[in-house]
Amino acid sequence: MEFDLHTHTSQGSACSRMNIWDLIQAACQKGLDGICVTDHDYCWDSRELAKFSAESGIQIYGGIELSTSVGEILVYGVHQSLLNLRDDLPRLAQFVHDSKGVMVAAHPFRTDFAYSVFSREERGLEPIEVEVMYRRPIFDFVDALEVYNGRSNWQEIRAARNAVSILGKIGTGGSDAHNILSVGSCITVFEDSIRNEAQLVAQLRKGRIRAKKKEVT
Ligand SMILES: [Zn+2]
Ligand SMILES: [Zn+2]
Repeated sequence: MEFDLHTHTSQGSACSRMNIWDLIQAACQKGLDGICVTDHDYCWDSRELAKFSAESGIQIYGGIELSTSVGEILVYGVHQSLLNLRDDLPRLAQFVHDSKGVMVAAHPFRTDFAYSVFSREERGLEPIEVEVMYRRPIFDFVDALEVYNGRSNWQEIRAARNAVSILGKIGTGGSDAHNILSVGSCITVFEDSIRNEAQLVAQLRKGRIRAKKKEVT
């Protein structure tokens, strides 16, 4: 089953130009089985999303893209604001796991490979020490790393693919869509059938998934 695990709406993310209805329609048109709405530091009412799900026929779950001092973290399966924990990574991880949720490092190498046609060296930046990059504390606390993000460049994706392989972590995919055209550009394919949010979170934790870039139609 194909899910886009990373999307933004104008209700929860000022940077998105897409409202929830446009997002759902785009996801349906692109043939996705489900989406997670992961607005910035914003928690959707799961009953409201369940209503949209029943109306549209696709699975719709809420997540949070939490801003922390060590980068953005996608949290699934927890339905409350986590803002009070975002500066305390060990407590955040404990709370999410106690709540049977899952944490994913969103676009983990974005700041290392900012959008530019020039290399770091050409921009006068220090070369990246790969060993140091993969040993960041955030990776000790998350269950997975987002490997395919629709807004990532190839250098970020390559680094994330290497990181999951070196760290033995799970890799996810999501479009990070802020507009309808991008919905479904990167997805997570679940090996088993998903019928509810608990199953989605459990399968994410087990790593019975494959992340990929998808042709956007
Ligand atoms: Zn982000
Ligand atoms: Zn995002």
